[in-house]
Amino acid sequence: MVDRQSSPPNPLTQSPNTFAAEPSGTENVRHLDPKNWAEFRGIAHTLLDDIITHIETVADRKVWQSPTAATRARFAHPLPLGPRPLSEVVDDVRSYVMPFATGNAHPLFMGWAHGAGTPVGMLAEMVAGGLNLNCGGRDHVGLEVEKQIVGWMREVFDYPASASGILVTGSSMANFLAVIIAKTRALGTETRKIGMRRASPQLVAYTSREAHGCISQAMEISGIGSENLRRIEVEPTGAMNLEALRASIAVDREAGLQPFLVVATAGTVNTGAIDPLCEIAAIAVAENIWFHVDGAIGALTALSKSLRSLSTGIEMSDSIALDFHKWGHVPYDAGFLLMRDEKVHKDAFAQTTAYLQRSDRGLAAGATWPCDLGPDLSRGFRALKVWMTIETLGAERIGGAIEHGCELARYLAQKLTSNALFALKAPVALNIVCFGIRGANADAVRELVIDLQESGLAAPSWTILQGETVIRCAMFNHRTTKADIDLLVNAILTHPILLGCSR
Ligand SMILES: *Cc1c(COP(=O)(O)O)cnc(C)c1O
Repeated sequence: MVDRQSSPPNPLTQSPNTFAAEPSGTENVRHLDPKNWAEFRGIAHTLLDDIITHIETVADRKVWQSPTAATRARFAHPLPLGPRPLSEVVDDVRSYVMPFATGNAHPLFMGWAHGAGTPVGMLAEMVAGGLNLNCGGRDHVGLEVEKQIVGWMREVFDYPASASGILVTGSSMANFLAVIIAKTRALGTETRKIGMRRASPQLVAYTSREAHGCISQAMEISGIGSENLRRIEVEPTGAMNLEALRASIAVDREAGLQPFLVVATAGTVNTGAIDPLCEIAAIAVAENIWFHVDGAIGALTALSKSLRSLSTGIEMSDSIALDFHKWGHVPYDAGFLLMRDEKVHKDAFAQTTAYLQRSDRGLAAGATWPCDLGPDLSRGFRALKVWMTIETLGAERIGGAIEHGCELARYLAQKLTSNALFALKAPVALNIVCFGIRGANADAVRELVIDLQESGLAAPSWTILQGETVIRCAMFNHRTTKADIDLLVNAILTHPILLGCSR
């Protein structure tokens, strides 16, 4: 918490001469490169070694620890005006940054839906930072690498050659873009100018009660409004109830509204449930509405031969959101939107501005630039880490790690069902296990989870299913083993709350 009263004065407003204080004379003062490249190289190599060791030995440390007061204070300093030796700054990184990560690289991190990353992804980040490409547009290799990713995803999801795609921060953004594209298609490109003012009848969209919160947020920030999102009932499996979907569309048509979009989920965030994609596709075709799949969690199961059939029907969608940074283990951030039809995609975003004009040759060549496919103009080289990860590991090995996560989830579920203290709270469709402890109320469950996190032993999370607070373990981490699951269960069994519940 920053105390404004006692915080140091803002150096930029102190004296108009602050920036003139640097002693002049040497040319080195103006450019920002190291004055001594050999020294820089030495420090950089050591840091690279340190971070490689950090990943190699991640399992030996605590999953997570709260940033200490000293660490928080270290990042509440006033703006530095003068330089500082890189070696000292790197020491700060070692002392104050590296020990206080989220924890998702650790095999006992099981909270939320986090990918673990890979060393090869880290290398790609380093190269991307060094090259410093701007992947919003222009004719350079960054766009070719991104097109390769689009091509691969077209292949994986059996999309046509006319399909387009774009790397974005995450599935929240990808889902938002899909809502905007579906809206533009439903209302016509004129809506880009006039907004929703002449939108009549009202647009309505459909998703399940178990859909991710970013879908209703996308409806909010698209201007359509989350009240125009119908949250359809789910089956006991957590998958969308088709009868309820059909009935809801019929009611809205009867009321003179305009159904325009259905968002199915392939792998819900609570339980990993997969909506009946083939049937939803058929309904979307019959109703002439956009069929989007939020595949943030489950889409990449298509990389596994044995899991692929779980999301059959995804290939019939109009668009797919997915996250390479979850089950693809590409370092954050790496979300992706795949669109069946590039023209429809461009209709929603492409602009004609003088400074973004295209040419037949030179740097301004290229018909479609990523800035035509989303609201970002300047963009980093996310494609390189996706490319290097998939190119190095291969789709099958990544698919194998996904299968491993599902196996671990079944193993945990088995262990839990064989102990009367535990109760599974949802079917294990993919890699997510939700369970309760007999006799433990919501407060006790939360306390147990927080205690585990703070002990540094394991990091599950909790969620709420049908009003009940449950422990949630999501097996995304490719480093997790059955022995880690045993450790987790033992840690729970020896927790004081459990000892209290067992009698
Ligand atoms: C994680 C997740 C999202 C949001 O994706 P981000 O990459 O975190 O923006 C959307 N939908 C589902 C089902 C998710 O699991």
